[in-house]
Amino acid sequence: MANPTDNSRQTQLDTIAAEARKSSVSRDQGYREQALKRYPWICGRCSREFDRTNVQELTVHHRDHNHDNNPSDGSNWELLCLYCHDNEHQRHLEADRNPSASNETGSTPGKHNPFAGLREQLDKS
Ligand SMILES: [Zn+2]
Ligand SMILES: [Zn+2]
Repeated sequence: MANPTDNSRQTQLDTIAAEARKSSVSRDQGYREQALKRYPWICGRCSREFDRTNVQELTVHHRDHNHDNNPSDGSNWELLCLYCHDNEHQRHLEADRNPSASNETGSTPGKHNPFAGLREQLDKS
């Protein structure tokens, strides 16, 4: 039996990305149309090209991350595919939250000591 796990995982990611964008679609509509008229349908990061069949995956990014800043000359807009757009925001969020960007080491001191119980056991015997 073939295992479709890899494929469905990708589909799931697609759906999540699409859902995340959908919520802001109505607000985006105005400047999105303008940006699509103004710029070629190419992702500014990965250079993926778009046409009518998949242009819904091309999104408008605000260079200064301010969605209310929509100058009519388009200088604050950048066309990015869903994935590059998410990456762009992810990077921005992580930079905001954690400038040093490396706390993958785990074990927080003083939180939970797995040997606490063991110690009691040893004392008893
Ligand atoms: Zn891209
Ligand atoms: Zn953006």
